[in-house]
Amino acid sequence: MFAFRDRRGPVELAFTDRHAGGAFPPGTPLNLSLRRDGAPVSGPESPGVDALAGVFAGCAAPVGLTQVHEGDVVVVDGGYDGRELVADAVVTATAGLPLMVRAADCVPVLLADPAAGVVGAAHAGRPGLVAEVVPHAVAALRALGATRIEAWIGPHVCGACYEVPVDMRADVAAVVPEALSTTSWGTPALDIGAGVRAQLDTLGVPHHCVDRCTREDDDLWSHRRSGPAAGRLAGLVVVVP
Ligand SMILES: [Zn+2]
Repeated sequence: MFAFRDRRGPVELAFTDRHAGGAFPPGTPLNLSLRRDGAPVSGPESPGVDALAGVFAGCAAPVGLTQVHEGDVVVVDGGYDGRELVADAVVTATAGLPLMVRAADCVPVLLADPAAGVVGAAHAGRPGLVAEVVPHAVAALRALGATRIEAWIGPHVCGACYEVPVDMRADVAAVVPEALSTTSWGTPALDIGAGVRAQLDTLGVPHHCVDRCTREDDDLWSHRRSGPAAGRLAGLVVVVP
């Protein structure tokens, strides 16, 4: 179920993999994507968000985002009504409210100041890197009182796999030079994770990286590897009550 899981004081954080695991039959997928109608995948054959019930003791169902590859951040609190919110980052100072971002090659980023009890989650693909969604999320955490933020960068397509047209590479590297990369087969590429790390360095935010490439690791979902059939993994973070 988890590609990575950790705890810092009252903060729990995790990145999921492609398998429901646990009490589910072997081979049951864990796909945290949204269906065509915008509702999360759920049901016995593909439990989706249902599989997350009980993962964080005493917590509500995760706050999900309808992600649009932009730079906006939403703030949620105890008044959250359960709807999917349209944004690429979400922050909260409310305990018991897990935050979730979805990805299948893009970079899921979790943020936390455990002492302040403030957490955030961001989804950074190529447009989100340029739109500075992660710096915007860091600013939103700081506005909620966070002073010592750490970041966790989840599994994503690596800079040796993410091939792009040469002009696209130039456009992104003009804004975030650290993202410039080359594939293992010698063609232009982008390293979105390196770009996110550079943005966090600029802000003085220490970061941890789950060093697994979604395209190369069959236990993870990858749009590059599987195309439209790919599901979504998730980054999850919560201040446990
Ligand atoms: Zn790779």
